[in-house]
Formats: sequence, C-alpha cells, structure tokens
Amino acid sequence: MSLDERASVGDSPGDTAPNGDRGPDGRSTDVESGAGTPSWLAVTLNYCTNCGGDLQLGPIEGEERHRLACAACGHIVYVNPRLVVTCLPVTEAGELVLIRRGLEPGKGLWAQPGGFLEVDETVTEGVIRETFEETGLVVSPGEIVGLYSRIEAAVVVLAVEATVVGGTPRVTPEALDVRTFPAAAIPWPQIAFKTTYWALVDWLARRHPELRPPPRSDRIGR
Ligand SMILES: [Zn+2]
Repeated sequence: MSLDERASVGDSPGDTAPNGDRGPDGRSTDVESGAGTPSWLAVTLNYCTNCGGDLQLGPIEGEERHRLACAACGHIVYVNPRLVVTCLPVTEAGELVLIRRGLEPGKGLWAQPGGFLEVDETVTEGVIRETFEETGLVVSPGEIVGLYSRIEAAVVVLAVEATVVGGTPRVTPEALDVRTFPAAAIPWPQIAFKTTYWALVDWLARRHPELRPPPRSDRIGR
C-alpha cells in the first residue's frame, strides 16, 4: 500500500521558514490539536465492531475526553493515528533513491518509498517490505531521520535512512521511475509531500550540512 491517499486540508503553501511550515514538534498541519476525530474518519465510525450496535459519542467514566462507545455492549472505540513507515534509501555512492509516483495524490512527483505498517510486522520489516514492493530494492534500515504528525490525515510518518544492500530497481504501478539523486541534485520543485520535504531537509542537515534546501514548494500539500 502506498502513502496515505487522503486529500490534504489546511495547508499553507509558500512558507519560507527554514523547515517549511512545520512546528517544532514535527507537526505537519495547521489543523488544531484537540479537535477530535477528523470528519472524514468520523463518518466511517457508525457501528460497534464487537456487536454491531450503534456508536455514540459521549462521556465515559474514567476517560478524560468524550469517546465513541456502543450503547448495547459498552465497547469503547479508541481512534488513534496509523503509522506510515518510509525510508530514504542511500546507495553505496551516497546517492538518494526516490520514486516518481504512479498514483494520485502526487502522481508524477517524487517521494520516498513507504506505506502503512501492518499489524503483524516490526517497523524494520515494514520499511524493508514497502521499499521492496515499490522499488525492487532491498534495504537495511538505519537511523531515524524524522517522525512527523499529520493530524488531518490521522497518520504519523516515520522516515528512516536506509542502505541499499541488494535488489534491482524496477518500475511498478506505484512507481513510474526509480532514480538515484546526488544530494545536491534533489528534485526539490517536484517533491510530492510535506513529509517527504521535511525528511529530505532533516537528512540533508545531518549528512550534507553544506547544502541548504530551498523553501518548500509542493503542490498538493501533504
Ligand atoms: Zn457493541
């Protein structure tokens, strides 16, 4: 599965702050914290997964905020963000591997490989699996580059650096092209997502502090 395909909301393009428009906690949005379940997600939560009864939002004893709960059986539905695991694959020559996305959003733009972590795998396994699925490359995940909250999409995006240790780059429906870029030639104007931009900025600051990234200019604001 590719990166979360929810459309963005509340983006503010054109920010020229050094790190784009994120806050100090890696926040990726100007949607306020504490506003409850995003509306696109709330509309899908109508019935109890335990008994099929109706869910109601309201106070629950011992809970510090209103929760969705089943009137029939008392099952409480906790709504939490999902984890998207991604990596910045680095070749032996020190070049970054990016994919040109074959799917919307961001079709035709460049991003790092990644996707939703499955419930039965570790973060490392998820990074390896997603990268292989999307690029044909085998990677060895390394240090964490960044961890970014996207409240509007109910996801947390993890980006790790990874070493390419095998495989053969191949094109897939998800990746129209798999290409390596020297750090000085990252295709900044064609970067798909906020989180890709931030991961690249954070990676650059660590590995190539002599290079300064341009202000974020992605077009779809994720
Ligand atoms: Zn129930």
